[in-house]
Amino acid sequence: MTQACDYDLTIIGGGLVGATLALSLRDSGLRIALVEAVDRQSAAQPSYDDRTLVLNRVSCAWLHDANLWSAVADAATAIERIHVSAKGRFGQTQLRASQHGINEFGFVVQARRLGMAMIPAVAAMSECTMFCPAELAHLTVHDGHAEVHLHCGADSAQQQSFTTRMVVGADGAQSKVRHIMGLPAHEYDYQQTAVISNVSADQDHQHCAYERFTDTGPLALLPHGPGRMGLVWSVAREAAAQLLELNDAEFLAGLQQRYGYRLGHFKRVGQRTAYPLKLVHVREPVAPRSVLIGNAAHTIHPISAQGFNLGLRDAVALAQALRECAQEDIGSATMLRAYQSTRDEDQLETIRYTDGLVRLYRHPSALFRFFGSAALLAHQYVPAMQRRLVTGAMGYRGRAA
Ligand SMILES: Cc1cc2nc3c(=O)[nH]c(=O)nc-3n(C[C@H](O)[C@H](O)[C@H](O)COP(=O)(O)OP(=O)(O)OC[C@H]3O[C@@H](n4cnc5c(N)ncnc54)[C@H](O)[C@@H]3O)c2cc1C
Repeated sequence: MTQACDYDLTIIGGGLVGATLALSLRDSGLRIALVEAVDRQSAAQPSYDDRTLVLNRVSCAWLHDANLWSAVADAATAIERIHVSAKGRFGQTQLRASQHGINEFGFVVQARRLGMAMIPAVAAMSECTMFCPAELAHLTVHDGHAEVHLHCGADSAQQQSFTTRMVVGADGAQSKVRHIMGLPAHEYDYQQTAVISNVSADQDHQHCAYERFTDTGPLALLPHGPGRMGLVWSVAREAAAQLLELNDAEFLAGLQQRYGYRLGHFKRVGQRTAYPLKLVHVREPVAPRSVLIGNAAHTIHPISAQGFNLGLRDAVALAQALRECAQEDIGSATMLRAYQSTRDEDQLETIRYTDGLVRLYRHPSALFRFFGSAALLAHQYVPAMQRRLVTGAMGYRGRAA
């Protein structure tokens, strides 16, 4: 016998992944509470900021199915080629979407633009009550339900509590749900910071995404509108502080020195923002009446451009599991374990692949670095390896494209 609850499902965190879960449950008949700490109108919203996101084909297909694509299409730039190289080493790889029978590998969209499409769509869901700004204060778990305690309002002065059949922690890398539920996380600080900005160069990107491994960290240039590219430049933490202090001309000169002249001269750079990088991995993201998804369960290095794509696959799989058991005990241990068993392989493979890339290219050993170059060449000339790389990058990890 299940206890009558105010909500069937409570999502803590209305960022990219929490909002994806809510939208994937449209018309499911479930009563949903979504709790988000930062006002959705605020420029300081941490999930929907200026970073440029590579959305793979699976994520783009989800946006189409959720009727959100038309709201971001004008700001989305197709990736038709991917060029991977390593500074000062032999070996480079070029992947062309057309050689794999597709028009593009995915699209680049600014996170803020995604938020402008997703948040109003969540707010319009009659079955979803938004608590925002509201912060999770505490959770108390009972046999068949949980109590959620919030601090609400801009000054967190009001308190509010309700009951729910289950809780989803989509509250990012510092997840409070994770801390309250006592779920152990493996954490590794890369001692790197990603500096992001928009840049333009003499030559147009022509829908090519460039990834360059350098001895000071990886650097990505993503096509983002006509003549503009989203830069994601990962460097040692001390170096990032210096990069942020440089004037524009000095910054561009540093970028030119690291990247070279494949795109001609870099001409302009926009506002710069820094993100400290660390790996967070919760091997068992399930606790009584609760589960973690997205960055709360696994925060990965942006080198592979997979973090949100992976979190979206969590959200979609969880929504499917919830729909399948809507008449049964939502949040039961059986249901949560069954959901997580569908996610283990994808999560582990994506984390291993991403972490391996970071370590391979910054390893001090000449032998390791040789293998890095050899791997680039192999991806260029061994069709099976290239297919595997492309299939994973498109979001079809572990299944056929
Ligand atoms: C530089 C950079 C580039 C990236 N590029 C890519 C890319 O190209 N492709 C890709 O797929 N991924 C990329 N990522 C990763 C991607 O940004 C993340 O995976 C994604 O933002 C995770 O979303 P999330 O909703 O799980 O977590 P978050 O974005 O961290 O959102 C968590 C939300 O929870 C809220 N919250 C936190 N605590 C509480 C609380 N106690 N109560 C209520 N609410 C709370 C926060 O306000 C926030 O809105 C990149 C990341 C970085 C840093």
